[in-house]
Amino acid sequence: MEMTKIYEKAPAKINLLLDVLRKREDGFHEVEMIMTMVDVADRLEMEELPRDQIVLTSQVGFIPLDEKNLAFQAARLLKERYGVTRGVYMHLDKQIPVAAGLAGGSSDAAAALRGLNRLWDLQLPLSELEALGAELGSDVPFCIRGGTALATGRGERLESLQAPPQCWVILAKPPINVSTADVYGKFRVNDLKSHPSIPDMLSAISRQSFPDMCAALGNVLESVTLHRYPEVKQIKDCMVRAGADGVLMSGSGPTVFGLVSKEIKVARVYNALRGFCKEVFVARMLT
Ligand code: ATP
Repeated sequence: MEMTKIYEKAPAKINLLLDVLRKREDGFHEVEMIMTMVDVADRLEMEELPRDQIVLTSQVGFIPLDEKNLAFQAARLLKERYGVTRGVYMHLDKQIPVAAGLAGGSSDAAAALRGLNRLWDLQLPLSELEALGAELGSDVPFCIRGGTALATGRGERLESLQAPPQCWVILAKPPINVSTADVYGKFRVNDLKSHPSIPDMLSAISRQSFPDMCAALGNVLESVTLHRYPEVKQIKDCMVRAGADGVLMSGSGPTVFGLVSKEIKVARVYNALRGFCKEVFVARMLT
């Protein structure tokens, strides 16, 4: 019998704004984030297996492919929760840099939940997939919903927003791996001198003002990562000097993104980065 094969795209997310309000009793941090997606994406291929098993492969050798992988965990969660006895073969074509602040693993988990919902004919509504996603990681619900959103709580409470003004997004990841848990562990909310303004960013987006969006970019986790890894600061400075209109570290880093409104400037920023880091991507926001 010919087995059905399906595909899901798993795009990277960037934080246009990331603020931390406080540390909660449950150990998580209370955050306020504005997130959007860019067209750098992993691709997850899923095919039913004739036996009751989850098999995951990838073209890259440096990520776990067992129960430590978030896409694997997503499949296992669906099987356990809904008593699925069908199996799946998943192949992950990894394009998003790993441990980069781009939610690659979370987006793969979201792609697995969306795809297996179809492959196994579970007919779960997106709201239920989002709730399941929250069990796997704080960024997974956003990756299921996609688009642009204001995320609160530990990042799992979402309010969808209109797309930000379109622009070029140049992503640069220095060759260091940053653990999100480490960065939050070192973060001290009382050390902050100021917080970025959610209302300013929301207003820039609703007025579709590219300059105001650039001015409202902010990420309080830069206070930890830039201090610890000076190369991240160097990349930011390099993008600013090369003419990027707005520059920010995404998530817990170390990826830095530069926003550019005019195509003519893209090559200048890209070329300026080449000496600094090998992993540089030119992307568009997904609208
Ligand atoms: P976030 O922004 O959500 O913190 P990130 O982009 O910083 O995510 P990931 O690329 O998701 O980080 O991966 C962090 C770690 O998670 C990796 O070091 C890897 O061992 C593990 N991991 C689990 N599942 C995946 C996956 N599908 N792809 C990549 N890494 C994964």
